[in-house]
This record gives sequence, C-alpha cells and structure tokens, in this order.
Amino acid sequence: MPGRRSRHTMGPGLDFVDLPSLSAAVHDCRRCALGHSRTKAVPGVGPGDARIMIVGEAPGQNEDLQGEPFVGAAGKLLDQLLRGIGLLRGDVFITNILKCRPPGNRDPLPAEAEACSPYLEQQLRLIKPEVVLVLGRHALARLLPGYESISRLHGKVVVKDGVSYIPVYHPAAALYNSFLMGPLEQDFKAVKAHLDRAEERRQVLAAATAPIVKPEEQLTLFG
Ligand code: URA
Repeated sequence: MPGRRSRHTMGPGLDFVDLPSLSAAVHDCRRCALGHSRTKAVPGVGPGDARIMIVGEAPGQNEDLQGEPFVGAAGKLLDQLLRGIGLLRGDVFITNILKCRPPGNRDPLPAEAEACSPYLEQQLRLIKPEVVLVLGRHALARLLPGYESISRLHGKVVVKDGVSYIPVYHPAAALYNSFLMGPLEQDFKAVKAHLDRAEERRQVLAAATAPIVKPEEQLTLFG
C-alpha cells in the first residue's frame, strides 16, 4: 500500500514494550541498506535487567552468521577481559551501535548509525544499566558525542543522565595493535574499581537505611 509504513520502519515514536519485541523489529528491519545485505541481524544478548551494558561497533562475519554479538576473536578477548574482573558474559547485556554487519567489516556510515540509533536508545531505556562500557571510537562518537577522543577518554568515567559511561579501547583494536593490549587491560581494571566503589556505596546505603531492631525486639522475634 503506497505510503504505508510498518511499525518497525518508523523513526520517531519507535517504542518497544520489551526487549523481545525490540529484537523482533531488528530482525525485520530495513531502515538502511545493511538490512538487505546481512545474513542475520544481531540485536544483542544478555539479561534484561543487566546492571552493565557493553556497546561495540557492529557485527563482524561470525556475528552475522550466528546472530549474536562478539562471538569471534574480539569476543573471546572480551570474555577473557570480563572474567579477569570477575564477570561472566551472561552477567552483562552486549550489543552494538549497528545491528547488522557492514559489508567487508567497513566502518559504520553516519547514516547507518543514525538509522540504527533508536534501537540502542530503546535498549538503554528498557535495560536501565548503571554502567555502560563503550567499546572503541565509533561507540564513543555515538554515545558521548562531543567528548574527547578514545585515546584521551579511555578508562575514565563519564556520568551522563545518571548512567556511568566508561569508554575503553575496542578489543578488536587491541588484537590488531598489540601495543593497545596493556591499556585495554588497564581500562578493565578501571571498570572493576568503579564497580567495586559502586558496590561499597550500595552496602553503606543499605546499612544506613536498614531498620534498627532493638535487643528487646529481637528477643520477642525469636521467642
Ligand atoms: N566487533 C564489534 O564491535 N561487535 C561485534 O559484535 C563483534 C566485533
């Protein structure tokens, strides 16, 4: 029907009630040309109530074939870095700026990132993470536009709209340039230090707001 647009191809007002309906829309998406060249769309994986979200650049060849983010060499390194700070892949929500693979793994085009941005915005709104790990310069440009470059900002915490964004080098960049491996490991140490501080604050707050039970009340509670 001329002029008829599906719910999933709209721009403003792209509003999902939950992550499964968002994922379904991504699998149907033709908002840019990548929707025609991909094998599988890659919406993201992880718990819907994850406290930590990880945002990379775009699916590569393995991700395009499997429909899951970070399953290739960069993904193995990411898993290793997460384990190094006491986290498992299943603890975090992982996604990308682009939900479809750019041909030949070229850089995302600004128009593609723009077309795909409502999905990431809605994932952030639905998941409400406390911490977002921003992997590499493309994710940084999208999530923290106007901020400094990745080489200046990596490992630092930027608080925006109540969420802590921590830019880190992209694992694929460290696989390509081995001199970035040390800085990337340091970045993950900075992430761990931030998570530990947040946990300490949570415990202090929980202790401060816990109801005080007087000794005589404890006696009546336990007979
Ligand atoms: N690199 C990314 O940025 N994302 C992936 O999913 C895989 C590699």
